[in-house]
Amino acid sequence: MNVADLVAQFMQTFGRRPTFVARAPGRVNLIGEHTDYNDGFVLPMAIDRDVTIVGASRDDRVVRLRSTNFGDETCFVLDRIEKAHDGAWSNYARGVADVLQRAGFALCGFDGVIYGEVPIGSGLSSSAAMEMATLMAFAAAGVGGSVPLALDGAQAARLAQRAENEFVGVNCGIMDQLIASLGKAGHALFIDCRSLAYELTPMPKGVTVLVVDTSMPRSLAASAYNERRAQCEAAARLLDAPALRDVSVETFERRRSELPDLIARRAAHVIYENRRVLDAVAALRANDVATFGRLMNQSHASLRDAYEVSSEALDAAVEIAQRVPGVHGARMTGAGFGGCAIALVDDAQVGALTQAVLRQYPQRVGREPKVYACVASNGASWRML
Ligand code: ADP
Ligand code: MG
Repeated sequence: MNVADLVAQFMQTFGRRPTFVARAPGRVNLIGEHTDYNDGFVLPMAIDRDVTIVGASRDDRVVRLRSTNFGDETCFVLDRIEKAHDGAWSNYARGVADVLQRAGFALCGFDGVIYGEVPIGSGLSSSAAMEMATLMAFAAAGVGGSVPLALDGAQAARLAQRAENEFVGVNCGIMDQLIASLGKAGHALFIDCRSLAYELTPMPKGVTVLVVDTSMPRSLAASAYNERRAQCEAAARLLDAPALRDVSVETFERRRSELPDLIARRAAHVIYENRRVLDAVAALRANDVATFGRLMNQSHASLRDAYEVSSEALDAAVEIAQRVPGVHGARMTGAGFGGCAIALVDDAQVGALTQAVLRQYPQRVGREPKVYACVASNGASWRML
């Protein structure tokens, strides 16, 4: 669906013309997995798949939204924002409105039609795209009002994160919202999860990130996630560090034998992964795709063997990709146990890689994967129509 289709849907739903379009992208994390809650480093990029909202402001305090993905409409009043039932998609929009108002912004009601091309629940962060698109829609809806919704990209991301944490009730970090807000075409975003300092890093030319959605539910993810977090905290304690971020590879290797074996393996993943992110950023700066790919492969092996959060399906997707000529590296991305794998591939080999995955993955796993070729894209924005 393009903007013209959405405009038509809006006119059909609301009987008038929309005046603005707001959008925000999904994302993939290129490297730096399970490092965020250890105060470490991550390197996501925004993808060319958006949640888009076309809308028009109202002269009252009502927000009416239609999600074409859910085939469903919702309505709430800005003076009294209540949570819809658990799991309702509208909670993401309600949460953003609530958090913006609590932060002191004067909002204007609007009608909107939402269309997301970020796959929902696959680990490409449709939720952060939805939050940031909603935030942009409120910015557009309030134009001409007495109090413009003026906030910088990082502030906007923090408010969107608060909406997900406090209103929706999902305990996510800041990475997804930061990249959905601050992404830039042709760039990845290096984020220090402790200071929240960030820096755009140019992506090499001539390569594509191919995302393979394993189509597997992330069933074990929640309990394993909590267990890994606890193990990392235990490791940091035993190594007398505030967080694993503070433990260098050298210190770790010197003191590794003080840790129980399982805790040591978990810590090894995080400590080496942080170094890999720094090396990956250096490789990007040097336009060294081969090194970047090697680091992706090492990241996957570590997630599989030391952190033990991969799965047969993720391993299959990664192994299939790694054997295709023109692929520089591949790894699982996201928390694990399902979700997506990514491969960095020469543009000319995207077709061959796609064919290899579509042919071999069902044979090995017994499921159909979904494949998305992605390029690094711009963060959230809005414009008048
Ligand atoms: P993801 O990994 O995609 O972020 P989440 O479970 O965190 O998965 O978020 C998915 C939720 O975000 C959906 O169930 C829905 O509530 C909301 N959402 C995402 N995209 C849309 C959309 N296009 N329209 C309405 N709600 C959406
Ligand atoms: Mg999410």
